[in-house]
Amino acid sequence: MNELLFGYSTVPIIFVTLFCIGLIVGSFLNVVIFRLPNQLYTRWRTEAKSLLSIKSSKESNQTDTLIWPNSRCRDCSHPIKLKHNIPVISYLILRGNCRYCSSKISPQYPIIELLTGIIITLTIVQFGLSINGLLAIIFSTSLIALAGIDFREKLLPDQITLPLMWVGMLANTQGIFVPLIESIIGASAGYLSLWSIYWIFKLITGKDGMGYGDFKLTAALGAWLGWKMLPLIVLISSGLGALVGISAIILGLKSQNSQLPFGPFLAISGWLAMIWGDSILLWYTSLFNDF
Ligand SMILES: [Zn+2]
Repeated sequence: MNELLFGYSTVPIIFVTLFCIGLIVGSFLNVVIFRLPNQLYTRWRTEAKSLLSIKSSKESNQTDTLIWPNSRCRDCSHPIKLKHNIPVISYLILRGNCRYCSSKISPQYPIIELLTGIIITLTIVQFGLSINGLLAIIFSTSLIALAGIDFREKLLPDQITLPLMWVGMLANTQGIFVPLIESIIGASAGYLSLWSIYWIFKLITGKDGMGYGDFKLTAALGAWLGWKMLPLIVLISSGLGALVGISAIILGLKSQNSQLPFGPFLAISGWLAMIWGDSILLWYTSLFNDF
């Protein structure tokens, strides 16, 4: 953080404020993670029915939107009062149980809230309170939502990946993170590299190793961070994926045939590349200069 800009005494206040804003943003991200997939499933069901000329039954197609209705218990549907909806604190006070039906509240709520608080603070430490910082927050929070949705539903919605890619490219028309040419090549190479791996894998094994959402997310990462970061991103994400996959099999948490969503690993490595990518690449090239 730039001490000249903020002065030493105000720095902790700014950190605390940013962290609290992050908790609130995290609580909205939870809503996106839980509700967006349901909206999409309802839409796809309606489209499928109309395509197959199946008359809609009387069941209502109405689903929750991102802002309506207010938060409610996922078990008993009781509306949650504002005082029971304070990020992290309410979860601790209620000891992780619904106030009305005592069912367990998903630990995802406090985890995403805390994570968003930490990530927003670290992002601003890195980029400062600036347009770059604001854009980096848009990038980081989109990645949190995508990782959460992919983890739960094995789905990376176009509704997030595609706008994320376009915003990254627009930001780089001003060279905010990388020159525009690196961003365009990054988006194209990001999509095409995973797309090629997918088809080679599919032709050899007959299996789907990834989904198209993974290609679009990699394209978005390339649009934001430029093509030079792509090898690092693919390396970290596949390394992490293999590590977690093998550990899960050893611990008996998943069978060899069940698939692990790749999106969360792409999101983690994309975020690491945004924050520390330049330093990692510098360190890496310095290893070869020593020879
Ligand atoms: Zn309840």
